Amino acid sequence: MPSQARILNFSAGPAVLPEPVLEQIQAEALSLPGIGMSVLEISHRSAPFEAILEQTLSDLKTLLQVPDGYRLIFLQGGASLQFSMIPLNFLLPGARAGYIDSGSWARKAMGEARREGEVITLWSGKAGGYRRMPRQEELETPSDLAYLHLTSNETIEGIELFEDFNTAETPLICDASSDILSRPIDVSRYAMIYAGAQKNMGPAGVTFALMREDLLARSRRGLHTMLDYSTYVENNSLYNTPPVFAIYVVGLVARWLLAQGGLEAVSELNQKKASFIYKAIDSSEGFYRGHAEESSRSRMNITFRLPSEELETAFVNQAAALGMDGLKGHRSVGGIRASVYNAFPLSGAETLSAFMREFARKQG
Ligand code: PMP
Repeated sequence: MPSQARILNFSAGPAVLPEPVLEQIQAEALSLPGIGMSVLEISHRSAPFEAILEQTLSDLKTLLQVPDGYRLIFLQGGASLQFSMIPLNFLLPGARAGYIDSGSWARKAMGEARREGEVITLWSGKAGGYRRMPRQEELETPSDLAYLHLTSNETIEGIELFEDFNTAETPLICDASSDILSRPIDVSRYAMIYAGAQKNMGPAGVTFALMREDLLARSRRGLHTMLDYSTYVENNSLYNTPPVFAIYVVGLVARWLLAQGGLEAVSELNQKKASFIYKAIDSSEGFYRGHAEESSRSRMNITFRLPSEELETAFVNQAAALGMDGLKGHRSVGGIRASVYNAFPLSGAETLSAFMREFARKQG
């Protein structure tokens, strides 16, 4: 399909994928090079798939600059299953875990953890309407926590944490579903990072996690096989049939990111894209009201309101007529949300920004 037939996809996830990746999927749909079978048809225990898996993990390691002592795995059940697996594995009887209540996704993670044990809210953005992330100095972390959980980007509210916290001895666990691979991070600060793939990494159906070996060593014994992280680690994510196709696409996306120049280059581009849209908000003399405080403005999900719901509906409809899809905010908060993940083109952010200025001018 020629690229001009594609529209601008602002969806929060599943989300836009890089065009060269889609083209390669198309080109290899009947046969992986030299294999004579599609990736959709091969055994997960075949040599070609094992090579794909190894290369994918190795490229993710390179992109994220993962230090020694970490294990990388693929799981299913979405990031949502991790909300349960984390406390099942690491919140041992009698222990307590610390959570940062930064918004909708953090609250879901906390809800599952409470089924398992004691949860302490170390910081909450609730009273402030979830408009910002905490700063390191606002956190007081008791020394006896099994772990501290945070969400680096709240996809619904559109707020992002740009600081890699130093939690000393307390294992830091991060849900990076909506900003993983969007900028360099210091992996060594984290005991575990996890992400559903369907925003910045690939298609829906696979979840990525990296985990420090010392955290794994603290894991509960005797869990159901598929709920136990050690099953995935010890079997190189091949205990049961993994989502072969989704992992293959994650591999293509990782390759594409490396070819873009890695996370430094991608981060620079993401900042540019987001600033086009934030500038349109800031220069609108109050017509657009951004949800996030400036220091926490997400580069992935840009959320804002218009003066009325009627205008918001008109905005979404007119944008759609111009080939901009997926701008309606999440049903729980309303307003507008523009998701501009790695694969979203810079020219698309310029197009939205120009549309925003024009729409405000016409109404103003
Ligand atoms: N965490 C965050 C930050 C998310 O944005 C999402 C999905 N939008 C989830 C968790 C849940 O992911 P999944 O749908 O893969 O379970």
